[in-house]
Amino acid sequence: MPKLIPESDELSKPFWDAVNGKRLMLQHCGSCDKLQYPPKAACHVCGSAEHLGWKDVEGKGHVATFIVIEDGRLNRRMPDQPYNLAMVTLDEDPSINFYSNLPGVAPYDVPVGSAVEVVFEDVGPGQLIHEWQVVS
Ligand SMILES: [Zn+2]
Repeated sequence: MPKLIPESDELSKPFWDAVNGKRLMLQHCGSCDKLQYPPKAACHVCGSAEHLGWKDVEGKGHVATFIVIEDGRLNRRMPDQPYNLAMVTLDEDPSINFYSNLPGVAPYDVPVGSAVEVVFEDVGPGQLIHEWQVVS
């Protein structure tokens, strides 16, 4: 399935650099000890900008819910429809969500509640993206 190739900016570059090194690294606020994703200029909990750093996370999560995209408007992905779009919560902080196509899982066949772990997929020269795979 063709994936969108991420365009990193100044804010997200550390995240994508880590992904390209097959690591999942999220913003971490040293002021209130919260993780944050996607990257923002300030902590969404306490508003601190100067105490935002980065922290490696384990890359384990659970499938919270999903929808199946049957009639999406993203041109380059239309040939793949229907496809899963699952919401994954991070075990280290379930308030952190990721969206995943759950590679290897047939459309509509999503095992809600299952454990998943991060995997890294090639989407272009020198560019990986994070995806989530059901742990069997
Ligand atoms: Zn904070």
